[in-house]
Amino acid sequence: MITFLSGGTGTPKLLRGMRNLVNDDQIAVIVNTAEDMWISGNHMSPDIDTVLYLFAGLLNTDTWWGIRGDTFSTHKFLEQFTGEEFIAVGDKDRAVHIARARLLWNGATLTEATLSLARALGVRARVLPMTDAEVTTYVETDAGPMHFQEYWVGYRGEVEIRGVMRKGEEHRKATPEVLAAIRDADAVILGPSNPVTSISPILECEGVREALQEKFVIAVSPFIGDRPVSGPAAALMEAWGMEASSAGTYALYKDFVDVFVQDVRDNAEVPGALRLDTLMKDERRAEALAWELMSIVRSATRRRA
Ligand code: GDP
Repeated sequence: MITFLSGGTGTPKLLRGMRNLVNDDQIAVIVNTAEDMWISGNHMSPDIDTVLYLFAGLLNTDTWWGIRGDTFSTHKFLEQFTGEEFIAVGDKDRAVHIARARLLWNGATLTEATLSLARALGVRARVLPMTDAEVTTYVETDAGPMHFQEYWVGYRGEVEIRGVMRKGEEHRKATPEVLAAIRDADAVILGPSNPVTSISPILECEGVREALQEKFVIAVSPFIGDRPVSGPAAALMEAWGMEASSAGTYALYKDFVDVFVQDVRDNAEVPGALRLDTLMKDERRAEALAWELMSIVRSATRRRA
């Protein structure tokens, strides 16, 4: 089994290619939940939703969120009662949020709710929230703390940020399911997800770093030079006091990573890093990168055997 740590874009792109090489039932994905929020009374878990929709064959891979071909009738009709939701929730997407909210209200943990949704969607990969505790990423702005989703989706990242913080339960334990998915893996892969808002929240869950130190781990950088391939990772890294680059990303992972992968075009120097074409512009290129990573995993596991 190969276990991935994922946000909602970079790692899912890699997973799309990986699925052509590895059976879904041999894949586990530990997913960031620090962007979850209740929206219009329902529970949105943006990164889990993206990963579930990918494995269910439903994902809109033009945007990497939501369900392909979804309609927005409820979102539009709702506006007259509540004002516009700051995030455009599709009708089918909302049905998933409603189902999750019901499961949670009825006492399910987020892990149980996710496994139940995955079963209903026919997902055979093991998709796991990083923790059952509540934790949320906020950015610090002049107007006070702002939920990351509001900053990035509501304000399109056009707000000056001075810091990044996590709010929520003080002791955020990784679930037993998460620790088992790391322990039982042949290798763990951190796809090129945002180091501040997607990967670090997972690493901060108690037990995860220690578990990773015991495993063969590959991490792929989301940066080329001082810019991420997409999204707000550069502003977030700076606000977090880290260099916005592959070097800054490596610094966050260096205590457990065995192979650090940078793009061939990246001018940042990370000693010992492996250079590959990491730009997954389409499924074919994602599959090519996945193929390279799997050949590294196979030779490492052969060496260890
Ligand atoms: P989010 O939850 O939507 O923010 O998504 P992730 O955290 O999973 O992924 C966002 C990161 O993916 C960004 O920092 C991008 O730089 C990175 N990314 C997106 N596409 C690619 C790609 O094709 N190659 C690489 N190397 N990084 C990518």
